[in-house]
Amino acid sequence: MLHYSLDYIARITHSELHSSDPDLCITHVYTDSRSVIRNQQGVFLALTGKVHNGHDFIEDMYAKSCNIFWVQKNQSYPVYDDAHYIISEDVLQSFQYLCTKHREQFNYPVIGITGSNGKTIVKEWLYYLLSQSYSVIRSPKSYNSQIGVPLSLSLLSDNHDCAIIEAGISQCGEMHNLADMIQPTIGIFTNIGDAHQENFDTYTQKIVEKLTLFQSVDMLVYCADYELIDDLVHTHSAAALYAWSTKNKGNISVDVEATDHQSTYIHILHQEFEIQCEVPFVERASIENVIPVLLVAHMLGISSDVLQQNTFFPQVEMRLEQKKAINNCTLINDYYNSDFQSIKIALEYLFQQKQHSRSTVILSDVQETGSENEKLYTEICELIRMYSISRFIGIGQHISQYAYSCAPETSFYTSTEDFLQSVHSSDFSQETILLKGARSFSFERIAEYLELQTHRTVLEINLRAMIDNLNYFRSYISESTKIIVMVKAFSYGSGSYEIANILQHQRVDYLAVAFVDEGIQLRKAGISLPIIVMNPETTTIKQAFENDLEIEVYNFNVLHEVHKTASQFEDKEIGIHIKFDTGMVRYGFVKNDIEKLIQYIQNIPQCKVRSVFSHLVGTDDPTLDDFTHAQVSLFTDISTEFASAFDYHIDKHILNSAGIERFSQYQFNMVRLGIGLYGVSAKQSDSVRTISTLKTHITHIQTVETGTTIGYGRKGKAYKKSTIAVLPIGYADGLRRLLSNGVGTVVVHHTEVPIIGNICMDATMIDITNLDAKIGDEVIVFGEKPTIQEVAQKLHTIPYEIITGISQRVKRVYFYE
Ligand SMILES: *Cc1c(COP(=O)(O)O)cnc(C)c1O
Repeated sequence: MLHYSLDYIARITHSELHSSDPDLCITHVYTDSRSVIRNQQGVFLALTGKVHNGHDFIEDMYAKSCNIFWVQKNQSYPVYDDAHYIISEDVLQSFQYLCTKHREQFNYPVIGITGSNGKTIVKEWLYYLLSQSYSVIRSPKSYNSQIGVPLSLSLLSDNHDCAIIEAGISQCGEMHNLADMIQPTIGIFTNIGDAHQENFDTYTQKIVEKLTLFQSVDMLVYCADYELIDDLVHTHSAAALYAWSTKNKGNISVDVEATDHQSTYIHILHQEFEIQCEVPFVERASIENVIPVLLVAHMLGISSDVLQQNTFFPQVEMRLEQKKAINNCTLINDYYNSDFQSIKIALEYLFQQKQHSRSTVILSDVQETGSENEKLYTEICELIRMYSISRFIGIGQHISQYAYSCAPETSFYTSTEDFLQSVHSSDFSQETILLKGARSFSFERIAEYLELQTHRTVLEINLRAMIDNLNYFRSYISESTKIIVMVKAFSYGSGSYEIANILQHQRVDYLAVAFVDEGIQLRKAGISLPIIVMNPETTTIKQAFENDLEIEVYNFNVLHEVHKTASQFEDKEIGIHIKFDTGMVRYGFVKNDIEKLIQYIQNIPQCKVRSVFSHLVGTDDPTLDDFTHAQVSLFTDISTEFASAFDYHIDKHILNSAGIERFSQYQFNMVRLGIGLYGVSAKQSDSVRTISTLKTHITHIQTVETGTTIGYGRKGKAYKKSTIAVLPIGYADGLRRLLSNGVGTVVVHHTEVPIIGNICMDATMIDITNLDAKIGDEVIVFGEKPTIQEVAQKLHTIPYEIITGISQRVKRVYFYE
C-alpha cells in the first residue's frame, strides 16, 4: 500500500506543494469523485479526460470531507484554506511516477500479462495456483489501463512475495509507459486478435507495441503458433523464451487430447522439464489460457506434482448482474472472485443504486492471500460501515468470527447450506441485495432462491456496452455541449431506473421521458437528474410540477394549463422547454406563433424557459440531407428570435442520435441521444456496441419423420427427418408473428437455424436438425447475431419498433462485464 508524505511526493514528482502539513501521509487514492470517502488520508487525483475534468469535482470532494487534492498547474479549481494541494504539470504522469517508485521497492517476481484476449483469466488462474505457495497481489478486476496499472501497483506491499499485473492498451505509444511502471520480471503474451485493431495500421505494429512490455523481462512465455508473434519476439526481446506450440514450432511442445466432452489432457515437454495435467475444459481458448499459467507456475517453483493435482481451474466470471428479485427487491450478483478489492468495487456499485433505501450484503469468507484474517475482516467491516449497509449476512467460518458488528443488523451462518435452511423469503423485501461469494460457497444457489422466477426468456442488457456507446456519441460533441438522454418507453425497452441510474452516474445533463408517470417512476427510484417530459398531457401537468419534472410545451393548450397550474406553485420556478415544428408536423409551435408565445410566457412569472428545440425528420437518410439543412436553418432563425426576447440564457437543440453522428456541426449547446445509446448507429460504426440480447432456452425436443407438419395451420413442414425444438417465447413476448415459417432465424450453438411453422402466443418451434443440442441449451433470438437491424429488415420496420416491442413479461437482466 502507498504510504508517502506530501512532501516526498512533491519532491520526487517535481510538483509544487501547498500544505500546512507537508509530513501528512497519503494512504488512499480516489480517482472518481462519486467514491465514498474512507478516511482523512486519501488524495483525490484531478484527472483530465475526454469527457470529464476532475478539477470540476473538487468542490464535491471537499464537501465530502476529502481535503487532499492532486491538481494540474494550468487548471482552475477552488482553493480551500484547510486543504492540501499537490500541483503538477501532469497529474496522471506524476501519479504514475509515484507508483513506479513504489513498485521499485519490491524485489519479488512481478508477472506482466498482455495480449488481445484472456489476460484477466490467465491472471486469475495464475493467482489461484500461486496462492497455494505465495502471498500474491494481483490487479483488481481488469485494472489494466494507464490509470488501472498504477492503481494496481499501489497495492504492492511487504506482505506479498509475488505480483501479477495486467497491461492493456488501445493505441500506439501506450505500452511504453505501462512497461516503465510495471517493470515485469516474467512476461506472458496471451495471443493476438482483432481488439482495437482500428487504432493500429497492421498486426505487426500492434504486436511490436505489446512486446514493449517485455523489453527487460528475464523470461517470456508465449504461443509460437502465432507466427507473427514468434517472428517478432526474436527481434524485440532478449528474454529467455518459453515458446510453446502444439505444432512443433517453439522450444516447448504441447500435446493436447480431449479425454471426453468435458476435459482435456495436456502434456507439456521442455528440454529440462515436463508437466502433465488434466483440465476441466475442451475449448481452444481455455487451453491457450491455461498453458502459460502452468508454465509460469512451474518457473516459480510449483512442483509438477502439485500442478498435476490441481486439475480444477475456477471459472472466472467477469460479470456483475442486476435483476429484479422476490418481494420487490433488486439483486446484484457479482460473480467475480471474492477478494478485498473486488468487494470494494461491488459495494461502490451497490451504493450507486438508490431505488431502495434499504440494503443487504451477503458475503462469504474472503479469498485473499497476504493478509491476516483479523486485519482483512476488520477492513471489510470498515467498508460495510462506511457504505451504511442496513444488514450484513456473513457466510463461512472466518467471517462469522470477525464481522459481528459491521451493520445495524447482522447474522451469520457457517455454510451456504446452513443459510438456505434457515432463510425465509419474507426476510427480504424492498431492498437491494448484494451477493458476493467465493466460488467454493456456491452462491448461485442463493441467487436462484432470491431471483424472481419468471419464464426463461430474458432480455440481457450490457451496461458496460451502453456506457461505451454514450462515450462514443459524446466524442462527437464538445465538452460544453449538454446531453439529454431519451429514456422514454422504458428506455427503448431496456429498463427504467436501472438505466437512469447508470446515466446519472455517468453525469449526463438531462433525462427525457414521454409521459409524466414515467418521470414519477424515476423520481421514486431516487433519480435526481433534471427530467423532461416530452408529451405531457394537460391533466398531468400538476403532477409533473409536484415531482420536479420539467415539461415540453408544444402548443398553447399546454401553455394555458401551465399558466393555470403555475399559480398553485407560488414561489416555485417551473422549467419548460419550448418545441417548434420545423418540418415534422407533429408537436410544436410554428414561426407565426413566436410573438404571442413570448408574451404569454412572460406573463407567467414562475416560468423559466430552459431550452428551445425542434426535431429533425431524416438525419439517418442521406437522401434527405437537403431537408435536414433546411430544417436547421429555419430552427436557427426561430430560436434566435425567440431566445433574444428573454434576458437569461436559453439552451438550443435539434440533434437526435443519427444527427449527432452525421451533423455534429448543428449541436448548438445541447443534443438528444436516443437509439444510439441502445446500440444503433446511423453510420454503422463498429464502435457502437450491441447492448441488448434476447435469450431463451430449449424446453422440448422432438424428432419428426419426413412430411410431418408443424404448428398451427400446418404451416411448417419437415422435408426430411428433422429435429424440432420448442422455445418458451411467442408473439406475446414481442417475437413478431411475421417471423414465422423461416422468415426469422435464431442462433443455437453459434449456428443460425430457422423458425419453423407459425409462432404461437407463448412458444416457437425451430428446426435444429443436425445440431447436437439438448434441452436447456441457450438460444439467441437477437443480439450480436442476428442483430436487431437484421430482424427489423425482415419485418420491413425499424430497430426502434423491435426493441420497444419486447413485452414486460420478459425479464430484464443487467450486467457489467
Ligand atoms: C425520441 C426522440 C429523440 C431521440 O431520437 P433517436 O433517433 O432515438 O436518437 C430525440 N428527440 C425527440 C423529440 C424524440 O422524441
